[in-house]
Amino acid sequence: MQTLEPLQVGIMFWAGRDPWETVRELKSLGVSSGQMGLSGDLNLHGLAAAWKSALEAEKFTVVTVFCAYNGEDYADIPTVQRTVGFIPPATRAEREQRTLEASDFAAELGVNSIACHIGFVPEDKSHPDYVAVRDMVRRICDHAARNGQTFALETGQEPAPVLLEFLRDCNRENLKINFDPANMVLYGSGDPIEAVSLLAPYIISVHCKDGTWPPKDKPGALGEEKPLGKGDVDIPRFIGKLKELGYRGTLNIEREGQTPEAWRRDVAMAVELLTRLRAE
Ligand code: MG
Repeated sequence: MQTLEPLQVGIMFWAGRDPWETVRELKSLGVSSGQMGLSGDLNLHGLAAAWKSALEAEKFTVVTVFCAYNGEDYADIPTVQRTVGFIPPATRAEREQRTLEASDFAAELGVNSIACHIGFVPEDKSHPDYVAVRDMVRRICDHAARNGQTFALETGQEPAPVLLEFLRDCNRENLKINFDPANMVLYGSGDPIEAVSLLAPYIISVHCKDGTWPPKDKPGALGEEKPLGKGDVDIPRFIGKLKELGYRGTLNIEREGQTPEAWRRDVAMAVELLTRLRAE
């Protein structure tokens, strides 16, 4: 793995396609690092070796391995609450197992951070879901620690103070945050710039994503994801705030739900925007 520069611009991508083709496409967009997502149905058997050779040959660094799970659905807020992360009791055991496998997969690649959306954390500490999820996070942290890794929670589905309290309660040194400013906006969880200040000591990586606030006339609806710089996050202010807070990690462009052509166009524009902002 190559040494990363502070605020190095990278791209969040998915591991489902040919490793060589994927890495070359990412590099053609002007980056040499990123975060790798594993969809829930991706067969991990033998996959690490193929990725390892492509990453090493192309000198491409994976900063984080992100874990997604079978059965997750991001249609609207109630659906996310019902299906995403560690909250649904029926899939908890299988998702815990999958996360441990993702940690081992990342270790084979030499990646020292794993991450996922754990879903909406309940505020009530005595709620059975809260207790079960907290204990599950602790077990995953302990497994990740044995692999020399941090375990980062993706932000956005709950207000920053709730997440902060949860992190403290989990009480694991390698438990961190992958901060996604757009999720704060899309889920209506609060001002991302305020949240980033509050959560700063825990932030190990960030997503650079943009979006609009949820529509006021449709309860439960999510806001709409937008190309970077075109939503309500205020990306220049976000990057400025990260610099002010002394953040030295990477900036990872995340763009979802697009055709390959639109994805490429939007990501290319985002690389240009972030390259300019980090130099300012
Ligand atoms: Mg994200």
